[in-house]
Amino acid sequence: MQDSPEVTVLRLGHRPGRDDRMTTHIGLTARALGADRVVLVGETDGPAETVESVVDRFGGPFDVEVRESYRPLLRGWEGGVVHLTMYGERVQDVESAVRERHRTDPILVVVGAEKVPFEVYDHADWNVGVTNQPHSEVAALAVFLDRLFEGRELDREWEGAKRRVVPEAAGKRVEEVDGDDRTDGSA
Ligand code: SAM
Repeated sequence: MQDSPEVTVLRLGHRPGRDDRMTTHIGLTARALGADRVVLVGETDGPAETVESVVDRFGGPFDVEVRESYRPLLRGWEGGVVHLTMYGERVQDVESAVRERHRTDPILVVVGAEKVPFEVYDHADWNVGVTNQPHSEVAALAVFLDRLFEGRELDREWEGAKRRVVPEAAGKRVEEVDGDDRTDGSA
């Protein structure tokens, strides 16, 4: 997020077809909740294009990268590494240490799909459980980012947006940034 060291989300273990929606949602959630970049590993061109089209329409800055391997990024990361896993330490016990590290250093947040290689557990500065119950990488990422940014991500400003949703108690209003209003909700 603006004015703080980079936060990158690394999505491991994508299974083409089966994980397309989840991988897309990892990218969309990373963007919406304050991360600066998502790195998708494997055959993830489809999810990457979907996330990029959202950045194009609704703004950024937010970078999307597709890589063949996660290892160079993980091994060469100069900053803190958080791996989200149901087996990890409780988020409420480690969040302040991660925030302290993020005052000066970039943070890499790793989320998996199926089985995550042990190397990742070993390499992480923090293996973090958002509860120690099995659920979803999208849910874990959302809660973790909100704890990391302490809610500030909800107020972030977007640059380069072509359209903007106008918050309303009822109805769906989308405003073109050049001034036109649409009320049909098609975004
Ligand atoms: N056994 C996996 C684990 O280590 O959390 C559960 C696999 S789950 C289908 C896919 C991903 O969701 C995991 O790699 C992890 O990133 C995330 N995840 C699931 N439950 C979580 C939890 N309670 N806390 C943090 N992350 C979780």
